Amino acid sequence: MSAFRTLDQADVKGKRVLLRVDLNVPMEDGKVTDVTRIERAAETINELADKGAKVILLAHFGRPKKGPEAKFTLKPVADTVAEVIKRPVAFASDCIGPEAEKAVAAMKPGDVLCLENTRFHPEEEKNDPAFVDALAKLGDIWVNDAFSAAHRAHATTEGLGHKMPAYAGRTMQAELDALGQALEAPQRPVAAVVGGAKISGKLDLLGNLLDKVDVLIIGGGMANTFLAAQGHPIGKSLSENDLVQTARDIMAKAKATNREIVLPIDVVVAQKFEANAPTRTVDIDSVGPDDMILDLGPRSIEHAVSSLARMKTVVWNGPLGAFETKPFDVGTVQVADAAAARSASGGLVTVAGGGDTVAALNHAGAADRFTYISTAGGAFLEWLEGKALPGVEILRAK
Ligand code: AMP
Repeated sequence: MSAFRTLDQADVKGKRVLLRVDLNVPMEDGKVTDVTRIERAAETINELADKGAKVILLAHFGRPKKGPEAKFTLKPVADTVAEVIKRPVAFASDCIGPEAEKAVAAMKPGDVLCLENTRFHPEEEKNDPAFVDALAKLGDIWVNDAFSAAHRAHATTEGLGHKMPAYAGRTMQAELDALGQALEAPQRPVAAVVGGAKISGKLDLLGNLLDKVDVLIIGGGMANTFLAAQGHPIGKSLSENDLVQTARDIMAKAKATNREIVLPIDVVVAQKFEANAPTRTVDIDSVGPDDMILDLGPRSIEHAVSSLARMKTVVWNGPLGAFETKPFDVGTVQVADAAAARSASGGLVTVAGGGDTVAALNHAGAADRFTYISTAGGAFLEWLEGKALPGVEILRAK
């Protein structure tokens, strides 16, 4: 049995189900420009509606500061949800109070209703008990399907779970299964690939991963501080001088606990950070004073790929070079492609997410061959840091 209560344990027929979803989608000129998150929510919405539940969608959109703001209305998003799930979606212009109560009272089993942006009430983010009560009045059970908001203890992401029967939706369940498979009970050996610009935002993450994985492959700008810590010249590369000692501590801890850290052994450098700038590939001892390290060199790529070839599981966060600017995408593309190929043939469980990772893996053409890609940003990172997520903890089967 799953460690979390799921829809398999819920009797939803005829029930009013408050379903927390992630509808925080990109929008331009009043139109949704990427429906990925809506598509992920669709499975749970349709399952509940098919089972005869009255499905009441709760979600936040953007960061309204002072109550309702027209540009943050969920109405156009609700219309897009209707297109994606191929069912009508009613809309109420408030998420609590008479408007919401009237709309819920009019629902029949199988209907779907979207309530207005929960953050139009500042009480949402404060997890205010009276606001939670006003929401709880509208439903019989609460289903949380928004992993991406689960790192926050807000009224709709956590508070409701104290007031009513609480279950994980299918998207949440898939996310928890994938994350569990990657770090909690992984097939070993397990590696983490960590890249991105800086170490500073990822210290907790590195610390936790070092406890959990056998091999830590470090690339991107953050590798430069490690190279400097090892005494290699890094020229004008992005680095964090104040964290050189921290990088040394991380390497010492890895050594003491028999974990392997894989760092670049050769790199691609340029003196200008721009598309198609002249580049050189050099060993890490030959970076010149005016050089910037912007990508892995071929031997580093080979090293990362051969390390991954020994693994059964890999968790991935961050690009291995400045991938948005060609030709500095080669390291990210080649290592991701190698991981994706082994993943597609069933030899490797690949779980990725957070920040620019999804864009980098899409760029590499690797995303659809990975086992699981999390669209969550902050929540995925906090999970990688080993933190308990309030919106997940509340769903644990007691
Ligand atoms: P993060 O949000 O920490 O995952 O960082 C992602 C950013 O790191 C991307 O915009 C990359 O272009 C950037 N990045 C990766 N490697 C380097 C590098 N060697 N030098 C400068 N920026 C880099």
